[in-house]
Amino acid sequence: MNKLENIPVQAKSDKKRTNPLARVFDELIQFCQSRSMFMLHYCTGCGAIELPPAMTSRFDMERLGIQPMVTPRQADILLVTGYVSVKTLKRVLLTYEQMQSPKYVIGICSCTVNGGMYWQSYATAKVLNEYMPVDVYIAGCMPRPEAVIAGLRRLMSNIENGKGDAWKDYYKRYDYYLGNQQHLFGDDWQTPVDVIGEAKFYGLEGEETYGEHTKILEQHQEPLEAQVMRVKL
Ligand code: SF4
Repeated sequence: MNKLENIPVQAKSDKKRTNPLARVFDELIQFCQSRSMFMLHYCTGCGAIELPPAMTSRFDMERLGIQPMVTPRQADILLVTGYVSVKTLKRVLLTYEQMQSPKYVIGICSCTVNGGMYWQSYATAKVLNEYMPVDVYIAGCMPRPEAVIAGLRRLMSNIENGKGDAWKDYYKRYDYYLGNQQHLFGDDWQTPVDVIGEAKFYGLEGEETYGEHTKILEQHQEPLEAQVMRVKL
């Protein structure tokens, strides 16, 4: 049997890692992750207009290993490109929760940082990281392609150095994020994703995963339906 198969390449919280090669594999995986990212761009606002030049020949983000992806299931990065209305935020959250971990969020434009010019709008969610963890913000109204590329490079560097772990916060402090979502959408807010189940799966369940808001969710949460694949003959 190939001895390489015995090398633990994933950190297990309940298992002490003694193999000296484990760290080398971790670093190799982090490097590969940082150089092969699929990006889902949720063009919520006017800042999205700077994405096409960032993708095309002059700036060419694909040379960094980043390319657009059309579905959340295969995407690593979620780009939120501008102001987010309350109605749109629901879709952004549904998209985020469908992405597989590890997943990363970049907030582009001042509107995602603090509401920008819509700071006084009744219909706009002001601070994106109150509703989902954000890895990198790129401020500006609107940020130029150079700034978008610089933000992506910052994220790549964070992942390569093992610091791209904001996604874990969504599981560890789910009650905080859910509370902000309920405040905006009402107490009956529910997504079809079992976030607490995922937190258990990843071993990221903590004291702040649960709280008064997850209790409200439990009171009205409907069991998730099994997805049945029907094959028509
Ligand atoms: S920061 Fe400016 S360009 Fe970006 S979404 Fe807001 S208003 Fe539009």
